[in-house]
Amino acid sequence: MDIKTKIIELRQQIDAANQAYHTLDQPLISDAAYDALMNELIELETMYPEYDDPSSPTKKIGGQILDKFEKVTHTTPMMSLSNVFNREELYKFVERVEEVVTSDFVVELKIDGLAVALRYEEGILIQAATRGNGIIGEDITNNVKTIKSIPLKLAKPISIEVRGEIFMPHKSFHRLNQVRENNNESLFANPRNAAAGTMRQLDSQIVAQRGLDVYIYAIVDPLQYVTNHYDALNFLKSLGFKVNPYATLANNKEAIYAAIETFDNLRKTLPYDTDGAVIKVNPYDKYDVIGYTAKSPKWATAYKFQAEIAETTITSITFQVGRTGVITPVAELEPVVVSGTTVSRATLHNEDYIKLKDIRINDQVRIHKAGEIIPEVIDVVMSQRINQQPFEMIQSCPICQTPLRRLEGEADHYCMNESCDAKMIGQMIHFASRVAMDIDGLGEKVIEILYERGFIKTITDIYKLSQYQESLETLPGFGPKKVEKLLLAIEQSKSQPFHKVLFGLGIKHIGAKVSKIITQHFQSIENMYQASLEDIQNIHEIGPEIANSLFSMLKKPDFVEMIRYLKSAGLNFENVQKDIKSHAFNGKTFVLTGKLENYSRDQASDIIESLGGKVTSSVSKLTDYVLAGSDAGSKLKKAEALGIQILDEATFKDMTHA
Ligand SMILES: [Zn+2]
Repeated sequence: MDIKTKIIELRQQIDAANQAYHTLDQPLISDAAYDALMNELIELETMYPEYDDPSSPTKKIGGQILDKFEKVTHTTPMMSLSNVFNREELYKFVERVEEVVTSDFVVELKIDGLAVALRYEEGILIQAATRGNGIIGEDITNNVKTIKSIPLKLAKPISIEVRGEIFMPHKSFHRLNQVRENNNESLFANPRNAAAGTMRQLDSQIVAQRGLDVYIYAIVDPLQYVTNHYDALNFLKSLGFKVNPYATLANNKEAIYAAIETFDNLRKTLPYDTDGAVIKVNPYDKYDVIGYTAKSPKWATAYKFQAEIAETTITSITFQVGRTGVITPVAELEPVVVSGTTVSRATLHNEDYIKLKDIRINDQVRIHKAGEIIPEVIDVVMSQRINQQPFEMIQSCPICQTPLRRLEGEADHYCMNESCDAKMIGQMIHFASRVAMDIDGLGEKVIEILYERGFIKTITDIYKLSQYQESLETLPGFGPKKVEKLLLAIEQSKSQPFHKVLFGLGIKHIGAKVSKIITQHFQSIENMYQASLEDIQNIHEIGPEIANSLFSMLKKPDFVEMIRYLKSAGLNFENVQKDIKSHAFNGKTFVLTGKLENYSRDQASDIIESLGGKVTSSVSKLTDYVLAGSDAGSKLKKAEALGIQILDEATFKDMTHA
């Protein structure tokens, strides 16, 4: 087979797998098999750029960075829909339509995201645009291409424009906010904001990582293909688009309302946000008869679901201290059920938020779940107010009593005490967490106990714990086995690479990715000490906020002292660069399989990468080594069949030190 045919075949296989997984929710092949196909395609496309194709599935990885978004004039305006809010208004809408022409309707879920217009020419995606003001939107083609459920190539080579809704599923939303929290970044309030914020990214690689999804719901000029809306949805499916599965036909107002009630129950169980139902006339030839207003079509409307609202009382306002010292006011509530779960606390964000809504202790408040997820106070029921005392922000840290400071231009108050208990504990929890030093057995609870008992006050104390083995064994709930495991995990954490150590130290604005960039650039902590503020700012992708934060931290005597200790304890403060060029792992491709005793998968991968190798997920002829732990399965068999060199853990360890 020639290279070009091979490339085309790979693209077809990957497209089919993508569609099965992301559009139809029926995976065809394992993740590993998918990665293998993708890796092979990337390799071939890199070697043979002459066969590049803008609709290749490798484009879904993203990579182009724009300066700004170009404006796009929509071929047909993107109109918005009129709204109805209750049964009476819905019935009026239906009756008006029925008077004119028809009782044939389609009811669909209204997805809570942002509208997109997609243009295909001869089956190839050529442009994606936001709604904008309905007439002019922005060109977001690069970003949209990274969304896995959007086909870059249709099943038929037709020219067509379609419209749909881009949204962020709950799972992606939680993952994104988790990462942002780890990076000391502000959190997105709800999935819609997160989706909109993601689409505003100029770097499509960021978009690719955020796990957005889409439902396509309309064709512009559909009459060339179908005569009614319900058929249009099926036609879209046949082209390879992801179409929401819940569209329902209804031929009278009672049936429409019944469908809406079903949706209203259903939506609480869906893994994405919806904010209503869309009711459209089914036959297209009636659209012009029914007509349009200036802003919206008269043959469709949106029924807005009532956000579930509950009333309860604020029993007190408490304050949480984060590991950066940020103070978050929290409303403690009389427990109440909202959207299916019991809510007893709601964040009040900061002083400004409380003052804006004039929230006071003992107030009766209305709460809902923002994006069906995070409990939030909507407003105060003023008629029920008994407390005449307006809210006063606390002036000192609830944990260490140090006076708080509100920084210029920020809404948040901070405890500035470097050794505030809340900060110290929070920092150690972050340091030991899976995303940082990955110290098994040193979770939140254990850290709190060890802190209260005086065993650990700062990160450095973690590496002194082995001196107290016997005392630790006597702690309630510990015991010799648990202590031994914990101390072993602490010992192993010393082999974590420099970037994980730097990230683990929890410096403001220095997240996992930034930490990698900085350690790559400087290679060692000594080089970082010598860098000027300008040197740091000049690093690609490092902004002034990050640079200032890092620079001032490097000048702090306490910080320098901490690093001196951690270094002497054996932690990595430089990129380990043994003579990589001659190392046996350099340029080699690894596959990991089975359960490793002394390394996590991530640790083993980091070691291989630090020695110039790379890790892929499936065994092929291109694999050089398979690192096999216990209970290795099919990958090991395949490797044996292909005659690939297999390393056990001991051999691997010896080789890393060679
Ligand atoms: Zn404090």
